[in-house]
Amino acid sequence: VLATHIDGKAIAGRIRDGVARRARALRHGGHPPCLAAILAGDDAAALSYARSQEARAEEAGIDYRLVRLPSDVGSSPLIDEIDALNADASISGIMLHLPLPRGDDAFSVQQRIAAAKDVEGVGAENLGLLMMGRDALVPCTAAAAFECLRSVVPDMTGLDAVVVGRSVIVGKPLAMLLLAANATVTQCHSRTRDLREHTRSAKLLVVAAGSAGLIGAEHVSPGAVVVDVGTHRVTVLDADGVERIRTVGDVRFDEVASIAAAITPVPGGVGPVTVAKLLENTVRACERMLAAP
Ligand code: NAD
Repeated sequence: VLATHIDGKAIAGRIRDGVARRARALRHGGHPPCLAAILAGDDAAALSYARSQEARAEEAGIDYRLVRLPSDVGSSPLIDEIDALNADASISGIMLHLPLPRGDDAFSVQQRIAAAKDVEGVGAENLGLLMMGRDALVPCTAAAAFECLRSVVPDMTGLDAVVVGRSVIVGKPLAMLLLAANATVTQCHSRTRDLREHTRSAKLLVVAAGSAGLIGAEHVSPGAVVVDVGTHRVTVLDADGVERIRTVGDVRFDEVASIAAAITPVPGGVGPVTVAKLLENTVRACERMLAAP
């Protein structure tokens, strides 16, 4: 049996419809939601990602302000920019495109973003609230992977979930979301001794290891639901001998799709849902700001 393909574009479209409705209401009330994105440097890939973000935001009725800074910018002007956006009442959410061009550590810059505008959910306050099971702005990729799982398994109570990866923006927050949904969670990482033994016990398997093709059929039990967060641009040799650049995930799609119950493709899985979650966090931040005393 071939696995159901979890359609990230369709899930993202549903999220964006809800976002668009809420954005319209906010705009009619005189408070259009606005996402500010900071892009330091002129990396072509980052700029093209920002442009596609802008297009998705505008489709959903969210204003988008791209703040461009030179590639030699240091942390201090970046922090000044964040302070200005924090203080600007017309800005609902702030996100920072990474990596920073000089290779600077983004930590101190990201932590400067006001918690109420931290729509990537990368600040200590939102991550702490998530861990405490409180209302938080959840990191978009983790929220997106969770949404993909939930689209096929609405009730995760008691199910064995395995997360491969423990990064602050994906693996860890995802484990928190799964715990809150009453799954039994195992977290694997680069020092896990027998990865396969763990992943084979999973009914729900989410892979965010950043390693192309890491997970194959031998890692997956029949009937598991597999969500692949990895994205890698690789050069492959086609049957006709032509080299092509393709986007692949951490999961070997064809072999895993032949035994899993459901699986996200790459591209077209978690990726589009991540952008939709960023927009959802932005309308949410805008609504909360208006509701605040
Ligand atoms: P990261 O490099 O910060 O973290 C990778 C994690 O995987 C680490 O915790 C590490 O311990 C673990 N790991 C690495 N190799 C492993 C192995 N062989 N076995 C077990 N665990 C291993 O990466 P990240 O930021 O969490 O991103 C993960 C992947 O997701 C990347 O491919 C990235 O491009 C992709 N990504 C996709 C989206 C999206 O929207 N689809 C967003 C962010 C990141």
